[in-house]
Amino acid sequence: MKTYPLYINGEFVAPESSATLDVIDPSTTDVIARVPDAGAADVARAVRAARMAFDEGAWKETTAQERGRILFKIAEAVRARASELAELECRNTGKPIVEAEFDVADVATCFEYYGGMATKIHGDVIPVPDNAMSLALREPIGVAGQIIPWNYPLMMAAWKLAPAICAGCTTVLKPAEQTPLTVLELASSFADCGLPPGVINIVTGVGENAGAAIVDHPDVDKIAFTGSAEVGKAIMRGAAGTLKKISLELGGKSPNIFFADADFDVAVEGALFGIFVNQGEVCSAGSRILVQRPIYKKFLDAMVEKARGITLGPPLDRETKMGALVSREQFDRVLEYQEIGKREAKIALGGGRAKGQALERGYFVEPTIFYDVDNSNRIAREEIFGPVASVIPFDTEEDALRIANDTYYGLAAAVWTRDIFRAMRTVKNLRAGIVWVNHMQPTYVEAPWGGYKQSGIGRELGKWGVEEYLNVKQVYINLSEQPIGWY
Ligand code: ADP
Ligand code: MG
Repeated sequence: MKTYPLYINGEFVAPESSATLDVIDPSTTDVIARVPDAGAADVARAVRAARMAFDEGAWKETTAQERGRILFKIAEAVRARASELAELECRNTGKPIVEAEFDVADVATCFEYYGGMATKIHGDVIPVPDNAMSLALREPIGVAGQIIPWNYPLMMAAWKLAPAICAGCTTVLKPAEQTPLTVLELASSFADCGLPPGVINIVTGVGENAGAAIVDHPDVDKIAFTGSAEVGKAIMRGAAGTLKKISLELGGKSPNIFFADADFDVAVEGALFGIFVNQGEVCSAGSRILVQRPIYKKFLDAMVEKARGITLGPPLDRETKMGALVSREQFDRVLEYQEIGKREAKIALGGGRAKGQALERGYFVEPTIFYDVDNSNRIAREEIFGPVASVIPFDTEEDALRIANDTYYGLAAAVWTRDIFRAMRTVKNLRAGIVWVNHMQPTYVEAPWGGYKQSGIGRELGKWGVEEYLNVKQVYINLSEQPIGWY
């Protein structure tokens, strides 16, 4: 079993803190590694390295073309190590290996995308009324503190690191305490990719300690966070102390809306995929399934029938379609919501811990479908972050929109219909940052990702993602040699 050090200033270094965290395989609960439970002193050291690299190191002299090439090389390293990284991700998160392989491919694509963008960060020349030239330069914001969750560990790291490097920032990244392994492994390739020391620093530890220390540190210029709404609010409060720029990608209770004219079989599968992919541990999970009354009963029955066929099993097994939840905490939380759901609504499938010999030791839960859920129920309002679907009937388009938008969240939504007029009206009226028509969940690094309302602030990915790491500098260049003539 490997005990990992921290990654600071281009080296793997022993932490100052002697405390460690056990990292488990949630499908067996075996401890598979240990990582430092870093504290404020370790964070300070990482911030110092990031600050030095930004203010005085080789990074300052690195051209946009060079930054692009470094990102392409990191992408190459990810592809070269894809099976190793996917297997480790699978073991550490409990997600099915096939899904982990998709994640790792997306990680490489993300580094490539921002590799291409590094040379395309342009400023502006602004027409002004005087004999002067007005410029808007776009400069890297500085040291970015990046705090990420456990559901897509390496992908979340890529979404944060790639645009930061693209922009010319340096970073201190804290992976989730449950899933720190893949990004630490990838870090061993950074120097070979030409990344100067101090540009990326990785500090492992718990949120309240290492995470909060990053948020509080006066030399960190920006915080990028993905995680729960509750912690997002704490980070916003914490960042206020030093007025850091923040971007937050938080939770959701995303509606997946099915009109009666939707292509039935495709729609049923879309409902299941929307909530059960990655064990439902997805910020954009389609956890509220709104079904129009004429097809409600038939749709529910078909969902249950198909969901019975979802194979739960060892995550490394290629037949597995649903793995284990990431941690004891998450497992207990989902079991509790299953009980809450049984009191609030009717149950059509699941509702407990998953049974079966291969599943006994791990944090497996049954795919669960509640129906006749009222949108005011807790299982329709609170993010569960597990394979628990709340099916809600509706009558008219107006009802569907009212129910869909009746939530404090606004990350994602989907609508299924063959009626183009209704589809477009619904797209326009949904208050969510990501809307799918006749699909749910696929997304591309080229497209913006982020939420309305309490689902967050800012956008990741695409051309929007890099903006979060840039500052704008106005430059006034006087072209007139005449005296000002004011006094
Ligand atoms: P979950 O509750 O599902 O684990 P969190 O939002 O708590 O999700 O965790 C997401 C990330 O935020 C993790 O890296 C975690 O360590 C970090 N985190 C948790 N609490 C804090 C905090 N108070 N300050 C900074 N980071 C935190
Ligand atoms: Mg937490």
